[in-house]
Amino acid sequence: MDRIRVKDKEFEVSIPEEKIAKEVERVANEINTELAGKDPLFISVLNGAFMFTSDLMKHITIPCQISFVKLASYQGVASTGKVKEVIGLNEDIAGRTIVIVEDIVDTGLTMQRLLETLGTRNPKEIYIASLLVKPEKLKVDLDINFIAFNIPNDFILGYGLDYDGYARNLRQIYTVVE
Ligand code: 5GP
Repeated sequence: MDRIRVKDKEFEVSIPEEKIAKEVERVANEINTELAGKDPLFISVLNGAFMFTSDLMKHITIPCQISFVKLASYQGVASTGKVKEVIGLNEDIAGRTIVIVEDIVDTGLTMQRLLETLGTRNPKEIYIASLLVKPEKLKVDLDINFIAFNIPNDFILGYGLDYDGYARNLRQIYTVVE
């Protein structure tokens, strides 16, 4: 399945399964080394990060905990536009080393919002692990500590990422064909 159709668009494989597995394992090893002894709490951002989180965590060998959050979009006041609220975080994160696990950082606004929200709960430190980053689209200054792939600006799907809810189940990452 090198080329697929999802709804009205054509996609072709841009990152094959083996390459994803290799880089996810590399990221896990970096985390194992850098966060050893820190007893991290991983916070995975659903829905998109579910597959990355699952594969990543299988290679984490240091003691850790995992929790999951969702970001619910709602229309804020006119000046702020769409605001995302973090739901589902029940753990006390005060004094903890946090690792946010995300599928993709695009403009970085979602991540910035998440950092602000978590920051109000007094964690010791917050690391970011993102499967994908689109560096050319970044609008905010973010320190993304662990990255599997930097990618171009094109729309992608698969391996947790969707197009209108579809294609999250695919094992490979696909890029839209213009
Ligand atoms: P940001 O706030 O960084 O601009 O956007 C982050 C969110 O936008 C991601 O969590 C993801 O849901 C969505 N997103 C950004 N780029 C893509 C893409 O190429 N494909 C898909 N499926 N979602 C994307």
